[in-house]
Amino acid sequence: MEFETVIGLETHVQLSTKSKIFCSSSTEFGADPNEFTDPVTLGLPGALPVLNRSVVEYAMMLGLAMNCEIRSFNRFARKHYFYPDLPKGYQISQFEEPICERGHIAIQINDATRTIGITRIHMEEDAGKNIHDSRTGSSLIDLNRAGVGLLEIVSEPDLRSPAEAAAYLRTLRQIVRFLDVSDGNMEEGSLRCDANISLRPVGEVKFGTRTEIKNINSFKFVERALEYEIARQMSLLKSGKTVVQETLLFDSATGVTKPMRSKEESADYRYFPDPDLPPLVIEESWIREVTSRMPKLPEERVKELVEGYGLTAYDAHVLTAERSFVDFFEEVFKICQNAKLACAWVTSELFGMLNKAGLDLKKSPISAQNLGELLKLIDSETISGKMGKSVFEEMFASGRPAQEIVAEKGLKQITNDDEIRRIVEDVFNKNASQLQGYLAGNERLHMFFVGQVMKATSGSANPKKVNEVIAAELKKRKDGA
Ligand code: ADP
Ligand code: MG
Repeated sequence: MEFETVIGLETHVQLSTKSKIFCSSSTEFGADPNEFTDPVTLGLPGALPVLNRSVVEYAMMLGLAMNCEIRSFNRFARKHYFYPDLPKGYQISQFEEPICERGHIAIQINDATRTIGITRIHMEEDAGKNIHDSRTGSSLIDLNRAGVGLLEIVSEPDLRSPAEAAAYLRTLRQIVRFLDVSDGNMEEGSLRCDANISLRPVGEVKFGTRTEIKNINSFKFVERALEYEIARQMSLLKSGKTVVQETLLFDSATGVTKPMRSKEESADYRYFPDPDLPPLVIEESWIREVTSRMPKLPEERVKELVEGYGLTAYDAHVLTAERSFVDFFEEVFKICQNAKLACAWVTSELFGMLNKAGLDLKKSPISAQNLGELLKLIDSETISGKMGKSVFEEMFASGRPAQEIVAEKGLKQITNDDEIRRIVEDVFNKNASQLQGYLAGNERLHMFFVGQVMKATSGSANPKKVNEVIAAELKKRKDGA
């Protein structure tokens, strides 16, 4: 029997607001343990939460970007469970009234576009971190992360393979980074996902029993954990056994999923509306105001690059992997006015060099302005592409502008016909026997003269022009002879 894979992801995105969701403590990453705590974070009696307006706006932006409906009447709910990193004994979340619902996003998979439904997006607070110190055998708690704002994005069970799950997660990461609501950094835990997976016989409409793999923190592990889980469920089903609905952990060292706990039901959390927080009402005018501040999204930028700048879809996708890439490209274009040239130099030369140097584009020693100026010199044939590369390397090493390096090295390409003609004549005079040879019928000597001119100008003459001038001068002499 053939089986179909069904996957739905619950993704947590840590928001990059300056302060936490219900108090003014900082959200900065990498501080000393418990530096960012306060009565609300610590859950001290009498401390009251106050909602951070930016968290709501970030949620609205993500919802709008994912084509969701924004709820006007919102409430927060307490989700109860015990864990040492949760001092209050409950997490403030949203339950029956999430801020965003019924959305969808497009993902690209093998050149095809698939639409994935978004069930809901809700706001909640993060928990702290338990640190287990094997040296002393003690467990320590760092509450810096407790109370940092999160958005949980729940997808419909529309994904059909581990590759689609990874593509969905990459698209989601790209969107939150374009919106600048989160850095989407999986290694630092700003983006984590729980993957729900089940199998069903091909043709079957009803979903099979699912398992949920918790807290996956890399794109590679999402695919690997799901592949493993498909194989495990498949062998159970093929041997006539059943899949038990449970929560699993993926061990990235062994590549195996292991049971963590039996699946809890929402009743176990004893959700109820948080009496400390008033309902949040979102007016149409607020949604309009936030909409007007939304940056352009990856899909729109791709369209502009293809239709407006004439780039290939492939190049457009490379350039929109990050908002900083496409912004940089557009700045380079503004100066050199040649989109193909700008794209090629940004994506291959510059990205190649940055990659080798282990640098981020934001730290590029060559500014967009300076790269644009270099490309202008190449596009106008003031310098050749080959010279451009050596100037580029020097710019990368020193951060200096192109014109300065070109002037200093006397690199300007000789494109003036009269000037080239003078050099050609000089070469003919110095190589009289070769000229005789040519006129006697040895036409291969044409290339010899080109070589001599390039040598005489240390390679700074425009090769195309040199070729033309030599051809014309040889013809004149042949016709004259
Ligand atoms: P919870 O995990 O909190 O019980 P839901 O029941 O809403 O929440 O489901 C969570 C995720 O599981 C969603 O992303 C949903 O698409 C996915 N899901 C639900 N049923 C299945 C299934 N049978 N197979 C795979 N994924 C599923
Ligand atoms: Mg779940």
